[in-house]
Amino acid sequence: MIPIANPFIEDEEIQEVVKVLKSGFIAQGPKVAEFEEKFAEYANTSHAIATSSGTTALHLTLLAAGIGTGDEVITTPFSFAATGNVVLYTGAKPVFADIDPDTYNLNPEKIEEAITPKTRAIMPVHLYGQPADMEPIQKIADDHGLYVIEDAAQAHGAVYHGKKVGSLGDMAGFSFYPTKNMTTSEGGIITTDNSEFAEKARILRAHGEKERYNHVVLGYNFRMTDIAAAIGLVQLKRLEGFNQKRIENANYLTEHINELDGIAAPYIQDDVKHVFHQYTIQVDADLRDDCIKCLNEQGVGTGIHYPKAIYHQELYQKLGFKDKCPEAEKAAKKVISIPVHPQLKVEDLEVIVQALEDTSNNFQ
Ligand SMILES: *Cc1c(COP(=O)(O)O)cnc(C)c1O
Repeated sequence: MIPIANPFIEDEEIQEVVKVLKSGFIAQGPKVAEFEEKFAEYANTSHAIATSSGTTALHLTLLAAGIGTGDEVITTPFSFAATGNVVLYTGAKPVFADIDPDTYNLNPEKIEEAITPKTRAIMPVHLYGQPADMEPIQKIADDHGLYVIEDAAQAHGAVYHGKKVGSLGDMAGFSFYPTKNMTTSEGGIITTDNSEFAEKARILRAHGEKERYNHVVLGYNFRMTDIAAAIGLVQLKRLEGFNQKRIENANYLTEHINELDGIAAPYIQDDVKHVFHQYTIQVDADLRDDCIKCLNEQGVGTGIHYPKAIYHQELYQKLGFKDKCPEAEKAAKKVISIPVHPQLKVEDLEVIVQALEDTSNNFQ
């Protein structure tokens, strides 16, 4: 089976990890500091704060912005559950606004109607590696005095109107989970130009310690280890190459899918660099199960990102969420992700295209 994701670890990562293990500094130390400096440079922000996961990075962005009980954060329901969960952790309420059916990203036109006196922030997700439409989102945020926090977990290196994601809002959170465009095993990072938020996030990351054993607020242990940072430093050097390969693989798939009936290739907005964390096709809801079966039978791994709107998850139902986003619900029934990762070989791409052709022929 051609896997839907495959972490790309080579000898250099392994050697760097061994060096850290032998150094004696195996928790947060000099490698984390170096990784933060290099990632901030890459994302073109003044600060980067490394964390234990993408989830803890996003959780800290909200806390650093002072968001908590009684507040509301507008976000997309068509994402990984972490996007909603991080808002719940703070005591605030996620308010789900519908997506644009072409890009699957938060639709700016649906944000304004979701704003209430309790709204404090908008949290767009750059889904599948395609930047959300940040200009109108920023305009709404400015008009209403709201923060913009990017969930950039799937979009390392993506570019919107000439600017890297992570530098577009007030703060951003990235994930380095093994399936993402680059990995540290588990890990995450916050990027921001705001020195006050950066300082708050650093304190909250380590038990609210301002100086050693001086605890000023209730913080957490959300630190990254030097072992993870050593992997991240090597992966960061390789990221542009990984993304280039993802884009080439995506272009190859799109070229062939455009000739097939019944399968829609991903839509790419003008003036963005989409880094294809996922390559996600769309078929009729009635045909999806058969299509997945056909692909799997021919050795092509698939994923559904995501099978339901976050507010339809059991947890959210129990909490009484009543949000309704028709476009997100439709997309959840139609999408299929297929392999696009940088380790695919020409033969793999040929197998994928052949399987898609057979699937398409079955539709007739
Ligand atoms: C992966 C992911 C996260 C969470 O990151 P972890 O490192 O797994 O904690 C958050 N949001 C989105 C959109 C993600 O894809």
